[in-house]
Amino acid sequence: MGLNAFPEVVVHEDGSEDDAAHELAQRLKILGVSAPLVVATSHGKRLGAAIENPVEYVQPIAGADQRWALDLGGLARRRGADAVVAIGGGRCLDVAKLAAARAGVAVVAVPTQPSHDGICSPVAVVPAGSGCGQSVGAVAPRLVFISVPTLLSAPLQSVAAGLGDLLANPLALRDWALASERGLATVDKRAWELSTESFERISPHFDSDIERTGRDPARLRELADALVISGLAMIRAGNSRPASGGEHEISHAIDERFPGRALHGAQVAFGCIISTTLYGDDASALRARLRKVGLPDHPSQLGLSQNDVVEVLLCAPQTRPGRFTILEESDLDAARALALVTKIWTD
Ligand SMILES: [Zn+2]
Repeated sequence: MGLNAFPEVVVHEDGSEDDAAHELAQRLKILGVSAPLVVATSHGKRLGAAIENPVEYVQPIAGADQRWALDLGGLARRRGADAVVAIGGGRCLDVAKLAAARAGVAVVAVPTQPSHDGICSPVAVVPAGSGCGQSVGAVAPRLVFISVPTLLSAPLQSVAAGLGDLLANPLALRDWALASERGLATVDKRAWELSTESFERISPHFDSDIERTGRDPARLRELADALVISGLAMIRAGNSRPASGGEHEISHAIDERFPGRALHGAQVAFGCIISTTLYGDDASALRARLRKVGLPDHPSQLGLSQNDVVEVLLCAPQTRPGRFTILEESDLDAARALALVTKIWTD
């Protein structure tokens, strides 16, 4: 399989979660997987219940880091696994991608939450021993299996976070174009189009209540499709640029300095307010959209003071060395960062 190969994507739309579990088992057989190592969270257990002959069934520990992922890869190899099947949230999928890369086998991604676009990306964000989240190259899934009956019971917060993660795409593209103008990156047209398409699919959902998006199978499927397409954009580009710019650096800096504040996508949406303002645009319409779906539009909703946000802004460029975005272009010092924060949140 080439580095830029897109995964096969299967969406199970109707019936119960048990029906989806049987289809997943069937799809693995069709794929030729006969001895999978299954990594499933407690939310993923039911979906994994019908898988035949797993060589091992592992539940990821809380705080699973790169070390844990590499050990898991070693286990997969020793047990002769022919694939790693990951059923769970973002962290579960990410450690499985690393483990599969280590074991040299395919990975199958089965998300139980529609909260981020890392579902089928070739990038895994897994903490190093230091506790900081690090993006590391991993393998993109061979198969992405989405069970709509499972996603329908995901918390609405994770649905909002999924929308928030995709809100980054237009800004990430702007950052990509900016880096290209400075001679620091090359834009890939197909990846650009996929990223745009992904955002356009979910953009209307910012105008309706989050319950409508999160509890309606058709809308939820649309969000899942959009998250997958955003991942395809990253596979096509060979990096996360089409879906990750300055707003992601802000989220990563929050993870480093003030961990555990909110889901990735919620922090990314918050970062979008800052990037938009740095580009010289008024962010009040964006903030209204965030409020409508229950995403944070004020530092206090993340438990951050204005000075905390200044600290985040000063740390953000170091979270992705080598990536040029509006944050690097702005080259903020403490005084200008504070002026920016005060300008956005004077209320
Ligand atoms: Zn993201």
